Amino acid sequence: MTESILVGGVETFSTVDYPEHLAAVVFLQGCPWRCPFCYNTALQPVGVPTNFLWNKFVEFLQTRRGILDAVVFSGGEPLVQNALPEAMRQVRELGYKIGLHTGGYRPEQLKKVLPLADWIGFDIKAPFAADRYDRVTKTSHLSQVLQSLDLILASGKDFECRTTCDPRLLSPADIVIMAETLAAKGVKKYFLQKYRPVESDKTTTESDSDNFFADLSWQEKIKGLFSQFEIRR
Ligand code: SF4
Repeated sequence: MTESILVGGVETFSTVDYPEHLAAVVFLQGCPWRCPFCYNTALQPVGVPTNFLWNKFVEFLQTRRGILDAVVFSGGEPLVQNALPEAMRQVRELGYKIGLHTGGYRPEQLKKVLPLADWIGFDIKAPFAADRYDRVTKTSHLSQVLQSLDLILASGKDFECRTTCDPRLLSPADIVIMAETLAAKGVKKYFLQKYRPVESDKTTTESDSDNFFADLSWQEKIKGLFSQFEIRR
């Protein structure tokens, strides 16, 4: 029994969190990063009282076998919690595929869970320069991120990279640099996510976010670098 993993929320049915699969999503507590565009700030601390209990979620999964294909571990940053491998093992034993959403903050923990994961959605926050990455995450974990990306590439697992395009932090020129770097490393699938201004952001509007994608020429340039490239709005 996995009693100790701390859950901050659950989505019982999703068609968008694991490509081409019907999935349940479990949002785990804990994230050491402080991205200004975070939509899940309530998940950043660990140990907050919650009505979402892991064992209740497992009971729910027992009733959805044959209806759902997969379970996605999301966050927060799922690699924070030491109980993640055991939780994944428990879900695998129920017959579900496993998806993982991560920014790669903790490669030693990623190494433990990679054999248990079937698909990974890997968040790329900024160009791979410490000052640029740290400006987004408000921490200094770029070397861990790079190690994690290498681990995923070496694992041969199905995965995608994705980036939230916050115009306060990134420009289209940055995205081109990031795309070229990722493609050179061997990444095949890259997705851009439009930034929807969070409550605390009084400086950016929806139209700033739309304008980010107004010039199609840089997007055309990127498209040819990947087998799959798309903008999620
Ligand atoms: S990594 Fe994700 S959960 Fe953590 S602060 Fe950034 S956006 Fe929020």
